[in-house]
Amino acid sequence: MKKPTAPKPTAKKAILTKLGPGEYVPDVAYQRIEDLPQPKVIRQSRNAKRRPCPHCGQPAPRDKTFLRALYDVGDLVSGRPRLLHITYSQHYCSRCRKYFNTDLSDVAARQCLYTRRVQSLAMRLVVEDGLPYRTASWHLWRDHRVFVPFATIQNWVEAGGKKSP
Ligand SMILES: [Zn+2]
Repeated sequence: MKKPTAPKPTAKKAILTKLGPGEYVPDVAYQRIEDLPQPKVIRQSRNAKRRPCPHCGQPAPRDKTFLRALYDVGDLVSGRPRLLHITYSQHYCSRCRKYFNTDLSDVAARQCLYTRRVQSLAMRLVVEDGLPYRTASWHLWRDHRVFVPFATIQNWVEAGGKKSP
């Protein structure tokens, strides 16, 4: 005769907590940036031994390498933000006697901590959808897992686009 097997509480609990398709789960609002989940770091390279000088076109050797960190749209599967770490080179043109950096302007605007992808998403939410800045900020975190303070979005919109009435 077979011994009755003891019920496995962990298995039962797993079934109970398993979510069905489309089941609603409210998201958590973070009060402090340091409480956000750790970002996934994506490493990219724009490091080259030489690049043509933007002023005279002469090949200029690498002098140093730097790292730029940029917040991109997050990873929706893990729910974590994504941080790009781009290694890029600085070059010295001996003819112009000038230093220049590898161009990253296709990825992000100067001095900006976010990729252009994030910036245009934020602008669309405000300019096209007419969302208030705070709502746009929350939407970016909830649906795209990128944390952008609402004041930053406001600066972008006021500098670039026009808020629809
Ligand atoms: Zn030059």
